[in-house]
Amino acid sequence: MIEAGEMDRLDHLLPGWVDTSRQESIHGRVATYIPELSKAGRDLLGIHIINGEGRISEAGNTDHRFTLQSISKVFTLILALMDHGEAAVFSKVGKEPTGDNFNSMMKLELIQPAIPFNPLINAGAIVISSLIKGNTVEEKSARILQFFRKLAANDKLGYDEDVYRSERETGHLNRSMGYFLLDKGILEGEVEEVLEVYFRHCSIQVNTADLARMALVMAFNGQDPLSKEQLIPKRYVQIAKTFMITCGMYNGSGEFAICAGMPAKSGVSGGILTFVPGRLGIGVVGPSLNAKGNSIAGVHLLERLSKAFEWSIF
Ligand code: GLN
Repeated sequence: MIEAGEMDRLDHLLPGWVDTSRQESIHGRVATYIPELSKAGRDLLGIHIINGEGRISEAGNTDHRFTLQSISKVFTLILALMDHGEAAVFSKVGKEPTGDNFNSMMKLELIQPAIPFNPLINAGAIVISSLIKGNTVEEKSARILQFFRKLAANDKLGYDEDVYRSERETGHLNRSMGYFLLDKGILEGEVEEVLEVYFRHCSIQVNTADLARMALVMAFNGQDPLSKEQLIPKRYVQIAKTFMITCGMYNGSGEFAICAGMPAKSGVSGGILTFVPGRLGIGVVGPSLNAKGNSIAGVHLLERLSKAFEWSIF
């Protein structure tokens, strides 16, 4: 199938398919544990797709703005790898899926040394936040934001301050993981400062176009195909991509790999960043979540598209 034909077909199919998948939203729930997130409309669904020539196809609620949440963890991992290299990063965080919820502490005590299983669960991402270079919290957060702006090709990316405050006020579980990791010597420095960096990058606000543009860089092995700039070393895309397949959709990752077969990362605000290697960057949002914490309508839509367009990498 030639690329232009695929984008034309998407233009034709997406509006109807988004409407069909949107109906799945009634079977899920909007996240409420970060109180501010509960304000998102349950029945929203939007998708934005961009190819290597910058040709776009989109449908649904693409103007909805939401916070990156766990999607940010893929890119803070990459930044930590760029800051310190593989050996240092993987001395503090593992490479294996957990089978537990993203905010579970259960397995932390079961292994020696007590390093979190992977960088995409909260405990692992908090350790990654502690590795971001910078002299102050502000400097670290500014480096992350700057990196994300480059990847999204959007200088205007900023924070949703309400979500940031809401999470900082209620993030007791994350706080307890931070102190646990400090006790074990995995996390260094001031826990509250590390958490501030973590809560900040989770509250970066985007739309589906931003997600798709970040995904496009991943699809092209770290090079922005439009500016031709190499933004991420290829090896680190390879590492991040592997984590996306094995842990990107929480403990729904195996099922998503079987049904859609695309590297993906979801967040509790209902975003999904995914891509077709060498071809497409894709951003989806649908705030109603399934039992595994992934956008219920978003997963439905991506599985259908992947089957129709043969997007599975397997
Ligand atoms: N900021 C969220 C948290 O720490 C991110 C979790 C997520 O998107 N799954 O709980």
